[in-house]
Amino acid sequence: MGRVHGDIVIRRRNNIDKRDDYTKYRKELQEDFNNICGYCGKDKRCLYEEHELDHFVPRGIDDTRINDYYNLVYACKKCNGSKQKDWPTKDKNIPHNEKIGYCDPATEEFDEHLGRDDEGNIFYKTEVGKYMYKRFHFDIRPISYVWKLMELMKRENELCSIKNKDLERLEILDKIKELREYLRYNV
Ligand SMILES: [Zn+2]
Repeated sequence: MGRVHGDIVIRRRNNIDKRDDYTKYRKELQEDFNNICGYCGKDKRCLYEEHELDHFVPRGIDDTRINDYYNLVYACKKCNGSKQKDWPTKDKNIPHNEKIGYCDPATEEFDEHLGRDDEGNIFYKTEVGKYMYKRFHFDIRPISYVWKLMELMKRENELCSIKNKDLERLEILDKIKELREYLRYNV
């Protein structure tokens, strides 16, 4: 059994300078999250649309952290749209109460709540994990297909780096590309 983020360890960098608009952190956040959504692990390169900048503690709960880098999560549109203003503990200092709420994906704790099985599906290990699992609709989204697409894209990279004109390899690359382009609109 694996991690939601696979081999990637998401941690926000230290000592980032203060900025007056959270959208100005996009580049650094994308780097710190290694291009993947903090919640579902989807690589932005699977999609045509950009990932978004989620406020972990929603703006309506804590308006002092709107431009706080350490409150931002690089998140896909689906995850960000599912979470929205939800903060069930209603207390800005309590992300979860061991039953309901959220865990920051840029912490070691995240893996205690959610994991990924060999097929690429996300599963929950705790009550908090279950809360997030339901809230992000991991049960009905094509989570394992996105994971398989990401695996395929890694293999595609490996195949691309081989410099010969082997026809079979080129045909396989064409097929992967076709599938990837189709899925980009559908995951
Ligand atoms: Zn996501």
